[in-house]
Amino acid sequence: MPTAFARAETIAVGSELLALGRTDTNSGVIAGRLASLGIDVVARSIVGDQLAHLELAVRTALQRADVVMLTGGLGPTEDDLTRQAVAAALGRTLHEDPVQLARIEERFSKRGLPMPDINRRQALLIEGAVRLDNPNGTAPGQWIDLGDQAIALLPGPPREMVPMLDGLVAGALGARASAACTHSRGLRVAGRSESSVEATLLPLYAKWREGSLPIEATILAALGRIELYLFVRTADAAAAGAVLDQAIAEAADALGASVYTTRDESLEELAGRLLSEAGWRVAVAESCTGGMLAARMTDVPGSSAWLDGGVIAYSNALKTVLADVPPALIAEHGAVSEPVALALAAGARARCSTQVGIGITGIAGPDGGTDAKPVGTVFIALHTPRVIACRQARFVGDRAVVRQQSVSAALDMLRLALTGHDPVGLAR
Ligand code: ATP
Ligand code: MG
Repeated sequence: MPTAFARAETIAVGSELLALGRTDTNSGVIAGRLASLGIDVVARSIVGDQLAHLELAVRTALQRADVVMLTGGLGPTEDDLTRQAVAAALGRTLHEDPVQLARIEERFSKRGLPMPDINRRQALLIEGAVRLDNPNGTAPGQWIDLGDQAIALLPGPPREMVPMLDGLVAGALGARASAACTHSRGLRVAGRSESSVEATLLPLYAKWREGSLPIEATILAALGRIELYLFVRTADAAAAGAVLDQAIAEAADALGASVYTTRDESLEELAGRLLSEAGWRVAVAESCTGGMLAARMTDVPGSSAWLDGGVIAYSNALKTVLADVPPALIAEHGAVSEPVALALAAGARARCSTQVGIGITGIAGPDGGTDAKPVGTVFIALHTPRVIACRQARFVGDRAVVRQQSVSAALDMLRLALTGHDPVGLAR
């Protein structure tokens, strides 16, 4: 019984992937196939067509992975060095494979051409390697079984690489599949910074790592939200589910109402679902976000069930004409102010006869800031049958960031209000 593989590393070979901006799609495809075998990719690299660098990359990969998957650099030209580099890293020789040589000659003769001498290179097999046939090209792949490790050399063009990879998954790689695989769960947080989430979870990390099934945690920061993912590696899917559910519940408990979902759900999907459950509809009056809130809401399929629409009230005049904001209010407090945001929300709600209204007014920058109201100052107001609230936010970032954060904050206020929380109390 050969040992199972747990860790893999991919190496995409080709200077064009570094210098010309070509995208390495092969490594992602390989990672997906390996995950289905319970083999985790622990590192991925892209290496140019340089023998010394390639050889070092292969040696390094062999120090940390059970299986190393290379793609590219199997062509016939001088810069196709993968075969040589792997042979050098293993201290093995290359020899010409007569079967492969005959195949390449045949491919050319079918087209009435003699085989160019440089193509002989593609018949070179590393000592101990198994040839992997390539029905879609001249470059064969190679599989080298080192006992408790293995190396695959696959061609660069995806249409040649993928069928060969699938062959390996069904064959030599599949035979080394792990019963254990990585299980994961996540949750999403709004209105808190990455460091505040991390600080809250720190005591749990230690506990999770020391459990009978150790849990690895990672935090990803995105605009307007923080995501936490927990991973467990085991063959026992039921045990993994139980441990992860428990840990997610602990994290949600520690983070409180700032956790908006433990599912794969966006803030706008959630807000829409909560509105539907309440039987409420929403209308918006947007100034600095220029319709971005309505756009994010209409991204959700079926949003017509809970969204009426609204207005882009950018100029002071239109704030009055379209959302009934009294001109005196604007004159007294300025267009970017709490009273005006509240009036926008009230106006949207009254004009559209919805239960919920949202108003947004702010300074997205780069100009227009003052000492009292610097760039990033945004007032977001919410009117529901139960609450009237306004949050004064100070977002940090460029114009696009300020606007997107404003939209996320508005959706989060809506979500908090609809779940019985204070819509402004949690923001930090
Ligand atoms: P060939 O026999 O075609 O020379 P090869 O194994 O030498 O095969 P490369 O010359 O490195 O492959 O790459 C050929 C083409 O394959 C590239 O121009 C690129 O379009 C594609 N390719 C190479 N590597 C990758 C990769 N990692 N992801 C996606 N496409 C790739
Ligand atoms: Mg190449």
